[in-house]
Amino acid sequence: MSDGNRSALESEIQYLPGVGPRRAALLKSELGVGTFGDLLRLYPFRYVDRSSITPISEIRPDMAYVQIRAAVIRTEVIGGKRLSVTIADRSGEMEAVFFKGIKWVSEKLKTGREFIFFGKPTNFNGRINIVHPDIDPVPDAQGMEQTGGSINGVYSSTEKLRNGGITAKVMNRLQEAVLRAALPEVKESLPEYILKEKGLVAIRYALKNIHFPDNMTALEKARYRLKFEELFFLQLSLLKQKYIRRRGENGIMMSRVGEAFNLCYRALPFDLTGAQKRVIREIREDMRSGHQMNRLLQGDVGSGKTMVAVLSALIAVGNGYQACIMAPTEVLAQQHYRNIIKYLEPTGVKAALLTGSSRTAERREIHSGLEDGSIGIIVGTHALIEDDVRFRDLGLAVIDEQHRFGVEQRAKLWRKSSSGIPPHVLVMTATPIPRTLAMTLYGDLDVSVIDELPPGRKPVLTMHATEGKRNALYRFMKDQIALGRQVFVVYPLIFESETLDYRNLEQGFDQIARAFPLPDYKVAIVHGKQSNEEKRFNMDAFAAGRANILVATSVIEVGVDVPNASVMVIESAERFGLSQLHQLRGRVGRGSERSYCILMTGDKVSKESRHRIELMCSTENGFELAEEDMKMRGPGDLEGTQQSGLPISLNIASVAKDGIILNDARAYAESVLERDPGLTSSANALLREELRKEKYNIRDYSQIS
Ligand code: ADP
Ligand code: MG
Repeated sequence: MSDGNRSALESEIQYLPGVGPRRAALLKSELGVGTFGDLLRLYPFRYVDRSSITPISEIRPDMAYVQIRAAVIRTEVIGGKRLSVTIADRSGEMEAVFFKGIKWVSEKLKTGREFIFFGKPTNFNGRINIVHPDIDPVPDAQGMEQTGGSINGVYSSTEKLRNGGITAKVMNRLQEAVLRAALPEVKESLPEYILKEKGLVAIRYALKNIHFPDNMTALEKARYRLKFEELFFLQLSLLKQKYIRRRGENGIMMSRVGEAFNLCYRALPFDLTGAQKRVIREIREDMRSGHQMNRLLQGDVGSGKTMVAVLSALIAVGNGYQACIMAPTEVLAQQHYRNIIKYLEPTGVKAALLTGSSRTAERREIHSGLEDGSIGIIVGTHALIEDDVRFRDLGLAVIDEQHRFGVEQRAKLWRKSSSGIPPHVLVMTATPIPRTLAMTLYGDLDVSVIDELPPGRKPVLTMHATEGKRNALYRFMKDQIALGRQVFVVYPLIFESETLDYRNLEQGFDQIARAFPLPDYKVAIVHGKQSNEEKRFNMDAFAAGRANILVATSVIEVGVDVPNASVMVIESAERFGLSQLHQLRGRVGRGSERSYCILMTGDKVSKESRHRIELMCSTENGFELAEEDMKMRGPGDLEGTQQSGLPISLNIASVAKDGIILNDARAYAESVLERDPGLTSSANALLREELRKEKYNIRDYSQIS
């Protein structure tokens, strides 16, 4: 099976003692394990101390794996299909259930005999039982026979694996076999100097102890080494691209601030916040560095990102270039445009708006204005990346809510630079991405954060209400409307169940229209199925104060600025994620009045939804919420990042939980690159080799052209 040159690590898994073709197929389909090496890198996701026994009376259905020492009281086959075994220890009794191997199990579990049962407790009709536990004899006085200590790894498993005979115990045996066969062939993947500087254990020690820890300390060392390595290589691969970009003189040099910037700045009706000033300084440094800027600007809703975009665009204009500002929706583009021309008034810089609904004549005029350079700043939607849009000299692209743009669309924008030098790029997002995640997702981007709201914002009072309180809610809305305020009512729209959602929305609209009848009240409605004109008409009616209530789907999530709106009602709030709820809430509290956010749910909500709602009621800090969201849902599910996802799937480290190691790994990767930007030294040969692997072939979108 091994041709001598091939490492055992690459051997097909079917040749591992105890596997064979049938189990090999299962391991492949269920766990993606095809070789010895794959199995070796399949780490336990949890550990149990097999020397510790849980008394039956203390078992709860939400516990992970438990080990019970109990005697068999009674066995009973029910309906010929299910073997129910009543087991008991001194503290109480419970049921163990078997659907397979009934004959074998019932012969083994003789009444009156004591065994060690190991498995996951579950709740069945209000009673706790344990399905298909591992069964072991009670150890003799010498203790249990084990590889390593008494800590056992628990591996992910599936129904199919268990039915195919790959139980927890079998998995442990396979890991034992693979360690024996392949561990001696594992080569160290980190240079000696890194192991020393970071105090990391050797790879073989780590692999042995991740599967069969000698003790808790050894396990900790093994985990730390493996997590650090994983995050270090991820950061190294991302940062390396940044260092390459830095070395090249591939950016448009914008050495001046320019007159337009100063004219705008001096005319501002307010002072910039400290955070806005800091971010503008960071951007200015980037733009005059001679290197291409690739910066992610994060700031909570209402933190004043638009202002920063305008001032950055004016730097480009002041240096003889053009700037474009791209928004994800027509409504947002219009709103940006309206705000921006206000700020531009004192500068004389010409701006234009280009969207899908721009008329042909207008479009033609804009095209020529962009080509001859008379338009300095263009605001728009996807229409901006059409092929017939050409610039005289595009120097800066600002992309609002980046996650709605695909990589290809960004690449198209890059190609619009006539000089061949890519424009500077500023990506703005109001989805607060935790710093740790931002570092992983955008390791090659620089990150700026506006972490301060403009002064004078009043906190939004957030409350949770159930259906029974609907009449009280309507009374409250009427009181607010009587005070001259406006109200948003938002319904979830998740496109898998679009039809259903629209029915909810329509019913909701009818209900509100009945409770808030004409002529005393005017209700507008906006949703994704309307034409752009319809949407604009309704939105404008609300923005101009002609409608008291706007019933909408989450299309308003990233849109509209209506300072007079003081109430945000979110229907079926349990169906929204935390950051989406937060975004919606950001639509109120923009004026000087006290604002409210009311989260409506059914009477029964899941534990997780309840937790989300409680968090919303307890904090307005978007970053705090994003951190919590990530902890609850895992980074892959974090809203606004589904499409980007993690650039590399992590095997052992977690971006949500290993923030400290991630920071450390990143700083260390930076120091390694500072010393050897091309990783050309012989000491770094192992690093070069690792980064050549396919999985690090991450597309760096600043480089696509
Ligand atoms: P974001 O895009 O981050 O959600 P905006 O740029 O739309 O926020 O700003 C929200 C509101 O705050 C706008 O009405 C804007 O004019 C105002 N604003 C921005 N910066 C300041 C500031 N430094 N002081 C007072 N108001 C500000
Ligand atoms: Mg904005």
